[in-house]
Amino acid sequence: MTSTETVPDLITPTWDYAPAPEARDLATIHDTYGLFIGGEFVDPDDGGSMATISPATEEHLADVAVAGERDVDRAVKAARKAFGPWSKLTGTERSKYLFRIARLLQERAREFAVLESIDNGKPIRETRDVDVPTAAAHFFYHAGWADKLDWAGLGPDPRPLGVCGQVIPWNFPLLMLAWKIAPALACGNTVVLKPAETTPLSALLFAEVCQQADLPPGVVNIVTGAGDTGAALVAQTDVDKVAFTGSTAVGKAIARQLAGTGTRLTLELGGKAANIVFDDAPIDQAIEGIVDGIFFNQGHVCCAGSRLLVQESVHDLVVDKLQQRLGTLRLGDPLDKNTDIGAINSAAQLARIEALVEAGEDEGAQRWSPECELPSSGFWFRPTIFTGVGQSSRIAQEEIFGPVLSVLTFRTPDEAVAKANNTPYGLSAGVWTEKGSRILWMADQLRAGVVWANTFNRFDPTSPFGGYKESGFGREGGRHGLVSYLQEEPHR
Ligand code: NAD
Repeated sequence: MTSTETVPDLITPTWDYAPAPEARDLATIHDTYGLFIGGEFVDPDDGGSMATISPATEEHLADVAVAGERDVDRAVKAARKAFGPWSKLTGTERSKYLFRIARLLQERAREFAVLESIDNGKPIRETRDVDVPTAAAHFFYHAGWADKLDWAGLGPDPRPLGVCGQVIPWNFPLLMLAWKIAPALACGNTVVLKPAETTPLSALLFAEVCQQADLPPGVVNIVTGAGDTGAALVAQTDVDKVAFTGSTAVGKAIARQLAGTGTRLTLELGGKAANIVFDDAPIDQAIEGIVDGIFFNQGHVCCAGSRLLVQESVHDLVVDKLQQRLGTLRLGDPLDKNTDIGAINSAAQLARIEALVEAGEDEGAQRWSPECELPSSGFWFRPTIFTGVGQSSRIAQEEIFGPVLSVLTFRTPDEAVAKANNTPYGLSAGVWTEKGSRILWMADQLRAGVVWANTFNRFDPTSPFGGYKESGFGREGGRHGLVSYLQEEPHR
């Protein structure tokens, strides 16, 4: 470059993004879906059917069977029948099936990513780069455990529990399925899984993967339906263990229902995580972590960093930079590879977000969103920041489960800890600071199952995940996660 040439402006965009849609026909959506029981798709006996729609367009996608009580019984019977032979296979044999499933998930990754984005509304960038690869990683990881349980320090003769009833939410449909099914199968259990009513399609595609992997019939059963189907599964008396991921309200009801029955239970519930930024933090890096912490997956994340605690001296700087960064996020078609913010999963969830945002305004917090056009159909909500939020405000206390960030301030590390822990939840937290000693001190003080340091929302199958207090109990992932799927040993 000669001295007379002008330096190109690399910061101000001089062009618009052209749409880069992923091919929708990578995924086949059938008109109707049955229940997956005993290795095949069957019609419901006493249920009926429900529609699943695209939250981005409200287009009808498919009619999916609803399992009634008799159908749930059938599925549990199929799982019970399969349990004997499955649990007697050697760990090496079980691991071969898990490896096969993991490889099939990788082979069919684009199909899963497209289907998940259509049914859930989340951006393809996330299903492609996070949901599907992390789900495959869970099967690979647990395939590795299946033949090593005897040496995992979990007792001299680790034995499976039996039939597991598993109920999952809609925010990470395939990934939550993997978190549930992979450890259960690795430990020699069989499962009946109920996906969420708004996102059943990836679980039903997973059922096809089980067939393709020649998984013995009945080892995995999928019963679709809404809360009633979930309640029927929890109430089924031949289920040995219930694993539930969802809202704290339903988790509490299940805990009450199972108290005294001897059925094992793990609960992965809601959260209201604090993402804590100290004045010595690398601010630009922290901005990316804050954005990822609350706007990833439209904020439909149990461990979302929904409360930003900023040290007072850098509050204005952080909020300014955050607003600039939010101005660059692209909201729209989930299948467009440029999209950062997709659709809200359902009309009901959108209404919940709107009600809490209104409550935040009524309580006097200042609301800000970047200019951005919303599509004319579907369920959408602009990324939103609230400043001037009081500690007792509903938007600082209740889980919004949407793209809404509440900003609070602190002066000292003690105050940051006190404010971060001032919540009924205890799932996750983030700390941004240059000081290693402060990270360790904070991690020790924070009542949260996961504490991220100078990063946020990192998931890995080797790392246990779970909550304190109203965020639930039990761990998923890592060696700790295996404990939930094995019989108790006194010295464990
Ligand atoms: P939800 O509790 O309404 O539903 C979760 C699942 O439970 C769905 O499949 C639903 O059909 C089923 N269900 C509803 N009522 C039931 C009943 N009485 N008995 C048995 N099953 C029943 O929750 P949601 O709105 O789908 O999901 C969002 C919630 O999930 C948020 O609170 C979020 O924080 C939580 N979540 C937690 C984690 C975690 O790992 N801690 C992960 C993802 C989501």
